Amino acid sequence: MIADNNIDDIFDRAAKGRALVRNRQSLTIDYVPDRLPFRDAESTALAQTLSTVFKGARPSNVLLFGKPGTGKTAVVKTVAGRLQKKAADAGIEVTVPIINAKLSNSAYKILFEIAELTGLNREDKKVHFTGLSMGEATDRILQYMQKKKMHVILVIDEIDSLVDRNGDDVLYSFTRANERMMAKGGFISLIGISNSLTFKDKLDPRVRSSLSEEETVFNPYTVEQLRQILSERAKIAFSEGAIADAAINLCAAMAGREHGDARKAIDLLRVAAELAERERAQKVEERHVRAAQDKIEKDTSHEVIRNATTHTKFVILAITKSKNGNTGEVYEVYSALCRRADQEPLTQRRVTQIVAELDQLGIVSTDVVSQGRYGRSQKIRVTVPLQTVKDALRGDSSFAELLAD
Ligand code: ADP
Ligand code: MG
Repeated sequence: MIADNNIDDIFDRAAKGRALVRNRQSLTIDYVPDRLPFRDAESTALAQTLSTVFKGARPSNVLLFGKPGTGKTAVVKTVAGRLQKKAADAGIEVTVPIINAKLSNSAYKILFEIAELTGLNREDKKVHFTGLSMGEATDRILQYMQKKKMHVILVIDEIDSLVDRNGDDVLYSFTRANERMMAKGGFISLIGISNSLTFKDKLDPRVRSSLSEEETVFNPYTVEQLRQILSERAKIAFSEGAIADAAINLCAAMAGREHGDARKAIDLLRVAAELAERERAQKVEERHVRAAQDKIEKDTSHEVIRNATTHTKFVILAITKSKNGNTGEVYEVYSALCRRADQEPLTQRRVTQIVAELDQLGIVSTDVVSQGRYGRSQKIRVTVPLQTVKDALRGDSSFAELLAD
């Protein structure tokens, strides 16, 4: 009997919780709403550039820049989607493969994705890119596009992570390929999307000038813009009256404080809703947003620490174990940890760099403290809860013993 009640209780809770959110998918990162307020100019400029397709001509290459969460991916997906639909209506052939270079995190994977999306893999079942050099694999794809006289608008999202990892050779091949393509009646245009504003500096000048025939910069949203974006999203996502306006405003304010990041704002909304559901609340309130902020921060730190290199992990652990937290002491503790784990310590210079990187990521903070007449020294401390550090390190076998004490 008790078991039955428990079961009913679980279902009741789930049913009640579900009632808060009516379209869960609209709170995910990949969701693109029908309307993108505050991005008219950016969408129109891109549509204008791509519209040359309807005259049978090759659109200029485009580079889109902007901080994360400024709507770059959403704008490109929307414009590309409409273009494909209109082109189909008009009987014009155009292929628009959209690759995410961060998800397909090697040059081979990116080439493989392109082969998938352009149909090469269906045609030629035996493309084993792993046996080919990068140049050969690229040629294979380009030859196929040429033979088919394809009209290709290749979108490479998070293009900065491709260049960071693999350099710009692949981009060079694709930008150069166009001459050959055009000779046969096809073309290839590139749309690159970058979160980093300094991305262009890393490119070979030839690739740079070719890729950036046109450029658009996406500015961060203001708090008021975020508020309106969230209100619209909330109407799609939540049941009537299931979220307080104050909660929406707080999400907007928190995401706006960082850098006008709509992704962050929507993440807050989703996690706040999950937390409200879990406690069977009638409504998503401000306190759920605050709790969501804590949870996201904790989860992010956990992931960063978990995915860090072994030496970075040693550095983090050394900071938690050192008493005064000055640079010299942290290095000593770090070296001792390395020796206990039979690892050669890195140089002090390198460790200082690692500390600076962790500072950037918000995992540690370094304050300069006055030592009175002894001058000033750095005080390094870990800003995330010790428990988060321990949980994140526990999965790594080399830390089992070190964590025991
Ligand atoms: P970026 O690619 O610049 O990092 P995204 O395009 O992925 O940013 O946008 C992040 C999230 O915010 C997505 O869920 C997207 O749907 C939403 N979003 C961004 N801009 C807008 C907008 N102007 N209106 C509505 N939703 C938006
Ligand atoms: Mg994006």
